[in-house]
Amino acid sequence: MAGIYIHIPFCRQKCYYCDFYKTVNTTLKPKFLVGLKAEAKLRKNYLQNEVVETIYFGGGTPSVLEASELADILTHLNQHFDIREAAEITFEANPDDLTTEYLLAIKKAGINRLSLGIQALQNRHLQKMNRRHDAGQAIEAIQNAARVGFDNISVDLIYGLPGLTEEEWKDSLDQVFQLPVQHLSAYHLTYHEGTAFYTWLKKGTLKELSETESVKQFEILIDRAASAGFEQYEISNFARNELYSQHNTSYWQGKKYLGLGPSAHSFDQLSRRWNTSHVESYIKAIENNLAYSEEEILTEKDRYNEYILTRIRTKWGVSLKAVNELFGADVKNYLLKQLGKYIQADLVTVKNETITLPRKGLFVSDEIMTDLMII
Ligand code: SF4
Repeated sequence: MAGIYIHIPFCRQKCYYCDFYKTVNTTLKPKFLVGLKAEAKLRKNYLQNEVVETIYFGGGTPSVLEASELADILTHLNQHFDIREAAEITFEANPDDLTTEYLLAIKKAGINRLSLGIQALQNRHLQKMNRRHDAGQAIEAIQNAARVGFDNISVDLIYGLPGLTEEEWKDSLDQVFQLPVQHLSAYHLTYHEGTAFYTWLKKGTLKELSETESVKQFEILIDRAASAGFEQYEISNFARNELYSQHNTSYWQGKKYLGLGPSAHSFDQLSRRWNTSHVESYIKAIENNLAYSEEEILTEKDRYNEYILTRIRTKWGVSLKAVNELFGADVKNYLLKQLGKYIQADLVTVKNETITLPRKGLFVSDEIMTDLMII
């Protein structure tokens, strides 16, 4: 069982915090779509005929696609891959693209899960981030999506924004939880080198939120989500009624996935591949049958580290039995030794041969993960 990720590398404007690969030059879209379909055909054997259970359109902004272009991609994928009839097909969208007509058309094309980049529900923060939508459009998009029959809607929010107050953060969460939303991904702002936010931080024109305030906002997130019936099944992901993101969960469970499009990553359990992060080079390489990706063969140490890093983030945790089977008794003993001080401090729980992070451990998860890895 496997997944397919499709990177749509176009945005109508650039958000000031974002370091995903994208371009605002949408005139390249027709050629990109030809290249994307050619890549899907070229790499039809990558998943070795495994059934595709999830498809994820990410970006960039997939909602720059016309609904007919999206339908065409899905038809093409169906021709070359064994896609399960009930596959989860997620589509990332910007709220201001979601007219009722567009929502109906993408639903008809096969999309059954929406991931909406809401990020904040205060116009002052949305403007500071250079988002295209305002808070009213975000709420309207969620309501419209539910009205046309989407019953698996995920929302992205960012906390730790410069100047984001506790009250504003509580208000964003409470508003989201009152809407017909089944899933929430909430990430702390990261200042990525090369972004406008990073430049302003270095220049001192933008002030980072303090560590204490950031931790407080994470606490608020966990508490508010639990009160609203959202289960924290991964450090940054919350779901109602077990409507977990099947696509992201398959990453954390180490399943194979094929990444199509510029900057997309692929994983076949033995190696990783990543496509060039440049749409023109991608198009040209595919047109001329040239290389457009790099590959890294994973060593046993890499595979162990990935196993720990991906699984410990989730409520399903790390299985000591599986570590023993996959990497041997010495590695299992190393892991148990590294865990010692964290178990003593109640930062890690080991129950039924499964290692998970209790609430206290979530706040120092980076430190724990680094310590459990083999360097
Ligand atoms: S956050 Fe999304 S919409 Fe904004 S620039 Fe990045 S990819 Fe584009």
